[in-house]
Amino acid sequence: MTTLLVACGAGKASTPKLEDFHFPVDRFADIEILRYRVPDFETLNLKQKELIYYLSQAALEGRDIFYDQNGKYNLCIRRTLEAVYVNYKGNRKNPEFKEFTVYLKRVWMGNGIHHHYSQDKYIPGFSADYFATVVKSIKPTTLPLAKGETVDMLITRLTPILFDPKVYPKRTNQAQGVDLIKTSANNYYEGVTQQEVEDFYGKMKNPADSTPISYGLNSKLVKKNGVLTEDTYKVGGLYSAAITRIVGWLQKAATVTENDKQLDVISSLIDFYRTGDLKKYDEYSIHWVEDLLSQVDFVNGFTETYGDPLGMKASWESIVNFKNIEATKRTEIISANAQWFEDHSPIDPRFRKETVKGVSAKVITVAMLAGDCYPSTPIGINLPNSNWIRHEHGSKSVTIENITEAYDQASLGNGFVEEFMWSDTERKRAKDFASLTNNLHTDLHECLGHGSGKLLPGVDPDALKAYGSTIEEARADLFGLYYMGDPKMTELGLLPDAEAYKAEYYSYIMNGLMTQLTRVQPDKNIEEAHMRNRQLIASWCYEKGKADKVIEMVKRQGKTYVVVNDYMKLRTLFGKLLAEIQHIKSTGDFEGGKKLVEQYGVIVNQPLHAEVLARYQKLNLAPYRGFVNPVYTLVKNEKGEITDIAISYTEGYAEQHLRYSKDYSSLPTNN
Ligand code: ZN
Repeated sequence: MTTLLVACGAGKASTPKLEDFHFPVDRFADIEILRYRVPDFETLNLKQKELIYYLSQAALEGRDIFYDQNGKYNLCIRRTLEAVYVNYKGNRKNPEFKEFTVYLKRVWMGNGIHHHYSQDKYIPGFSADYFATVVKSIKPTTLPLAKGETVDMLITRLTPILFDPKVYPKRTNQAQGVDLIKTSANNYYEGVTQQEVEDFYGKMKNPADSTPISYGLNSKLVKKNGVLTEDTYKVGGLYSAAITRIVGWLQKAATVTENDKQLDVISSLIDFYRTGDLKKYDEYSIHWVEDLLSQVDFVNGFTETYGDPLGMKASWESIVNFKNIEATKRTEIISANAQWFEDHSPIDPRFRKETVKGVSAKVITVAMLAGDCYPSTPIGINLPNSNWIRHEHGSKSVTIENITEAYDQASLGNGFVEEFMWSDTERKRAKDFASLTNNLHTDLHECLGHGSGKLLPGVDPDALKAYGSTIEEARADLFGLYYMGDPKMTELGLLPDAEAYKAEYYSYIMNGLMTQLTRVQPDKNIEEAHMRNRQLIASWCYEKGKADKVIEMVKRQGKTYVVVNDYMKLRTLFGKLLAEIQHIKSTGDFEGGKKLVEQYGVIVNQPLHAEVLARYQKLNLAPYRGFVNPVYTLVKNEKGEITDIAISYTEGYAEQHLRYSKDYSSLPTNN
């Protein structure tokens, strides 16, 4: 599971300054590209740095896999566009070429022709005729032509895929009432109906199996001569060329591990990649979740299933990271005090857990992002996903602090706080405390919030159905919000002073009532569960506190602002709503959950929405952000021995993608 959110010098000796990260690397369409720092990389020992280097190479080798999983023609399209971008000798200042460049940058951002978040197909800002002209203008040998294919045939083949809005409109279709497999453009299935997929995997599953494998996780299901067959992702199977190279780097990584447990993690992953055997994947997951001592850690593989409308097939991703020891002390304090928080929770005592264990959680520094984590990336991860492994062996929950830091820094530099915050008081608090309190809220949400409370005996955990995830996210958010304002926070040393929590309260309410609307299309309502949850909390508190003017929406010079007048009363409201939501959850009150979500979380205030969109547009603020990775280089002495790993932060967005396509692109164009 994942939690969804500059100019600088090369830094071998020390991490560059925060101020260098205020400005985006690139800006196009609805996207802003940022850099992230890797603080304290220089404090790692050489072996750890080498390990990160090899794991980073293994991460980059999987890039093509994710493109292909997102759509059968993505690699062909990317290679065609890149060939034009690199080789086109015509007028590059032409408005159509500029649109062409924007389109290519969007393809890099989406790892294919669909938007990474909305899943909608990009509509090119240039014409099909222009596309044909520029493709024909370059040398045919630079194009990814299929066997026997001419340039004209390639253009004819790709044109409807790029330009016809009816062809592959959605990457992952979640709309009920249609065949979700047939209407999704992604490449996890071919020639099969939803019913056939459900029957195929339904037959495999044995309800009596208490340790089931993750059926279908690492394969494409294809109908061949009328027979359903799984094409497994493995060495010698589908994506073999890329997986073989990943394994090669993992083997190098295995020579520089920190301890035997970590070696087991890497060896079992190699085993899995070689065999494609999902039992081996479970063995790897167990080793991984049990490795708590290593400082360097990583995810590399077919992991999250959000991209499959049926939630079985996993997209390939990688994150290489190391533990932020200082910040992890924070999550350790929280976990150690888990019972105190549970006992003082403002909910009906019937719903409190008698014994609660904080989730083992750590704060990490990301060193490399790839596959489904790049360029758009999560700010938290909780793995593995297998339920029985989580139950028997636990799970690892991580907060990715250098990514949230990058987000926060960018927001300080882009005019956002000046535009939307009410006064200098709020802006100063944001500057001083927003990063810290935002991270602390995420920690409380992940380590305690989700694990708190209990269901009454006999209550079905799925009773809230489609409203379940919004209610659950709201519950975890409220648990965190309620305790942020508790004196216990300063007592435990988690917050530096008694005012700091106000930074999080203000930005949470402002986001929930207003600024998150920038991610919603004009005239649409809110669909996404996290966004529903945030609006639910903010607008419920706004309404319930109206008589006391706890929160006000004030107009100044035609612009709407959120003003929080009474932070302590707001905290009381968070507590009250937490009690109500816990009641709904604990009793499985579907109607109660539905009413809350529909009344407060879904409907968008359209005039306010239009205002927010216009203000965003004026600032040229992007609703979505992606990242470029740092570049790691081996430093060797005259004897050819590795003496250090240098890290630099100077590579541009297009530059990085073109380099990746050159150096890490091993899959055939037409898999
Ligand atoms: Zn959550």
